[in-house]
Amino acid sequence: MTIGFWGIHAGAVAGLLALGWSWTGFALALVLYVPRMFFVTGVYHRYFAHRSYKTSRWFQFLLALGAETTSQKGVLWWAAHHRVHHKLSDAPGDLHSVRQSGFWWAHMGWILTNGLEDTDQARIKDFARYPELQWLNKYWYLPVVAIAAVSFAVGGWFGLVWGFCVSQVLCWHGTFTINSLSHIWGGRRYATDDDSRNNPVLAIVTMGEGWHNNHHHYQVSARQGFYWWEIDVTYYVLRGLAAVGLVWDLHGVPEHIRSNAADLAVDDDARVSDVVLDAA
Ligand SMILES: [Zn+2]
Ligand SMILES: [Zn+2]
Repeated sequence: MTIGFWGIHAGAVAGLLALGWSWTGFALALVLYVPRMFFVTGVYHRYFAHRSYKTSRWFQFLLALGAETTSQKGVLWWAAHHRVHHKLSDAPGDLHSVRQSGFWWAHMGWILTNGLEDTDQARIKDFARYPELQWLNKYWYLPVVAIAAVSFAVGGWFGLVWGFCVSQVLCWHGTFTINSLSHIWGGRRYATDDDSRNNPVLAIVTMGEGWHNNHHHYQVSARQGFYWWEIDVTYYVLRGLAAVGLVWDLHGVPEHIRSNAADLAVDDDARVSDVVLDAA
């Protein structure tokens, strides 16, 4: 993971220096960014980690396959680790907490360390029983290699640099902002026990995940924008998939939970520890 991570970063930088800026290239990077960011938020996160909707076994497999093109390891690995984040949110033991370990560890250090490579099967029992998911979890890098190969086959070096490397780097750091920036930058509607924030800028970049304080308040919801003005593109895609019958039982937000905004004015700033302020 570490070699691939820095190798793809180096590929993106070297490729951009060699090829120069291109709006076509940037558009190509976005074409591969948008569906893959959906896979991160709508699949790794809202499906495998939180089970916020249901689907069939074959579509579940396709979703997992799509998710693993984003190079964030196996779906079981991702979801099992994410469940620890919610269990311990910003308390000791949280694997990627800015408050506990600083900004860069929460942003990307944790996913690169050798110490967290194993999948805790007990935390993901609900999906661990599917052999096809276990296979994908073990060989998570194959979909990544496949998408790199297709990018090269279709677009040559231009395709590989913009469609794969640049798009991948953006997708990684876009995702990682949720563990780093979304716990330090933005407003807090709900008095959760962690530092989670709502941030419209991050919600655009991550296709809905920037409503992170909403999410920590009520994790099982398929929508993270709780009001119509809280843009949540992932949720719109899920609604579309539900409309054609590919997914169903999207978990909503009950009104009493949505309106349960406790008084946060008291010591909002006091929630942000010195560690957070130093790291930021
Ligand atoms: Zn969080
Ligand atoms: Zn979550």
